[in-house]
Amino acid sequence: MTSIQTPVPKIVPREEPTVKVSGAVSPMPELIRRHVTDELICVLTFDRPDSAANVFDKATLAELNHQLDYIVGNSSLKGLVLTSAKKSIFIAGADLTQLAKAKTPEELKEMIELGQSVFNRLAALSIPTVAAIHGACVGGGYEVCLACDYRIASSDKVTKIGLPETQLGILPAWGGSTRLPRLIGLPKALDVILGGKTLAAIPALKCAMIDEVAPREYLVDKACHLILKAGPQLRYRRRNRWISLTNNRLAAWLIAGRVEKQVLGKTRGHYPAVPKALEVVTRGLGKSLAASLTLERDAILELSGSEVARNLIRIFFLQERAKKLSGPPAAAPAPEKTEPAKRVAVIGAGVMGAGIAQWASSRNLSVVLRDINQEAVAKGLGSIAKLYEQAVKRHALTKIEARAGLDRISPAATEVPLKQSDIVIEAAVEKMDLKKQLFARLDELAGAGTILASNTSALSISEIAASTKHPERVVGIHFFNPVHRMQLVEVVVGRQTHPEIVRRAVKFVQQIGKLPVVVKDSPGFLVNRILMPYLIEAGHLFECGARVEDIDECMLNFGMPMGPLRLIDEVGIDVSHHVAADLAGKFRDRMQSPEVLAKMLGDGLLGKKSGKGFYLHHKKGQEPDVNPDIDQYHSNASCAGLGRETLRSRMVLLMVNEAARCLEENIVAEPADVDFGMIMGTGFAPFRGGPLRFADQVGVGQIVDEMKQLAGKGELRFTPCNLLQSMAAGGKKFYES
Ligand code: NAD
Repeated sequence: MTSIQTPVPKIVPREEPTVKVSGAVSPMPELIRRHVTDELICVLTFDRPDSAANVFDKATLAELNHQLDYIVGNSSLKGLVLTSAKKSIFIAGADLTQLAKAKTPEELKEMIELGQSVFNRLAALSIPTVAAIHGACVGGGYEVCLACDYRIASSDKVTKIGLPETQLGILPAWGGSTRLPRLIGLPKALDVILGGKTLAAIPALKCAMIDEVAPREYLVDKACHLILKAGPQLRYRRRNRWISLTNNRLAAWLIAGRVEKQVLGKTRGHYPAVPKALEVVTRGLGKSLAASLTLERDAILELSGSEVARNLIRIFFLQERAKKLSGPPAAAPAPEKTEPAKRVAVIGAGVMGAGIAQWASSRNLSVVLRDINQEAVAKGLGSIAKLYEQAVKRHALTKIEARAGLDRISPAATEVPLKQSDIVIEAAVEKMDLKKQLFARLDELAGAGTILASNTSALSISEIAASTKHPERVVGIHFFNPVHRMQLVEVVVGRQTHPEIVRRAVKFVQQIGKLPVVVKDSPGFLVNRILMPYLIEAGHLFECGARVEDIDECMLNFGMPMGPLRLIDEVGIDVSHHVAADLAGKFRDRMQSPEVLAKMLGDGLLGKKSGKGFYLHHKKGQEPDVNPDIDQYHSNASCAGLGRETLRSRMVLLMVNEAARCLEENIVAEPADVDFGMIMGTGFAPFRGGPLRFADQVGVGQIVDEMKQLAGKGELRFTPCNLLQSMAAGGKKFYES
């Protein structure tokens, strides 16, 4: 690692003839600005006009190519620095819209080859090249840095470095799969590429993905100074000699064999990009750079046409859509500008209240954290301190940022005025009477412009709102547990919630970096409503003799992150029983809480929190084992002989049916909201694209036929909803294109 303490030269922009971008890209505004310093260092600043992000589309690649022409033609230049003018993004990778819209494999191939050849030209320059990175530097954004000789990154928390392509069902194909293992060694490169990882600056430095960390404001100066100091030597730095121990054919073959088993175990064959990337990276190591790049290109062409890649890229677009969502579909036009929220009050310092307070304070909001007594508040603050500690360990925050976040929280064990709060989020215990009393009082304490929000998971927002004099300002803001990990937030619209309040709630969710989905107030809202019939069915199947292993394994094989019975244990048998009974009470025609949950509860089996449920839960970090005494809770053996395929089909059919009902009842506006909510809220097999996308793949007609067969045998909960039936009759799909 190079560390430079001496004063650095100042960059003075020098007049240069304007670069005329030729051909197809000429009408584009300038995407890359060029300065040449007095010391003859060329600084290229990526700065896409009218956008907060830089991306690599054809025009940007062509413009970079054009800039390289200039550099190659100016033999007096001493070095090149690449940087970005954006606040939080260096280069966010390839323009996925262009990738997704490529109509033919030839079009895609052309784009891949363009990127590879431009980055090859950059790598082949005779002058030293340094990437000065601040903000997200991912995918193609990091691949261009890999083509540079040296990489300096800011230590800011917005700086994220990595190659997330496998998470999109593709692989790094602009040299990332080839250059990263050569830079940091095969094992570490596989960890990043197969895991689709992005790292904060310090972990990236530790694994040598970057060479140095510097404060943002000195990045470019440091890069220039380094070029002047090290000169051409920068191009021929000695690589870590340990790398040669893993970067040879024999080691690569051995590593590939070991990693392949792990990969298959983890992905269960659902994510073809991961084994493909493994193959390309390990085979590429034994080949020339050009041959390895050919492997990358052929692999991405093969993967990008798959249904899996299409579904995963679609999720990316849905996340982007949620970031830009402006409110409910029927909202009045937005006023010119909504001031971001500054002050939040969180009522209840339990699991959720503490999580919400920690998250909001880490996002620069002042937070009042209120609970009923000192002890409860202190407990909440203790949990918050732990969350901050963990964030520091993960390098998500620095110690100073964590300290500042904690300092933004004002604990309150007694009633405090809330006139200054932009938003109050209630996260007290799940009891309607208590919430009504609380809201009546919050209505008096809050200012005229304060939003009153409840984090309730199942109670009616409209009913809670009715306890206030201003029901129009009451809304649901339903976070998922654990708050710091779950990105989805349901914004629940009560009967009287004003559209402007919904819009502000959506903005608030976006402001704190979460992804909103707007849902109508109805039992279970969106995510829990679709999840519960699935969990209830798992309980019934178990009750009727199916084995825990079969029920959970078949859903893991389907692609769920956790089996349903294990999930019930994690949530708690008590909470699951309560929510199941509550929803069953509202949807009597098709839901009935499994008796087994009540029985287990009666015997003190609470799941993970008591160490015993369907599983025996051991120490932290150890996988649980199936509870050896659990079979005593079977009430009959009617499902004992069902195969895993049948078990899976029953559970999935009920999810699809409930998902369709949510659409039928306008709980959300469109199929994409359902799928997005289920993937982000429950981890529903992302490669399948969500329950409705899955229904399209299988065919709505087939889903309806299977359901009718089961319903015909007297299992009426399998009766397909009207929407599914009419779609099947009309041969329709949820997504027509
Ligand atoms: P919890 O039991 O951990 O915490 C509730 C807190 O509220 C306790 O600290 C309690 O002292 C406090 N409280 C009770 N009455 C109060 C009052 N009048 N004023 C202020 N504080 C009061 O509960 P939790 O799991 O954090 O759940 C809170 C809310 O969030 C519930 O509505 C729940 O349905 C919802 N929720 C929970 C989860 C989850 O997984 N735990 C997920 C999403 C939503």
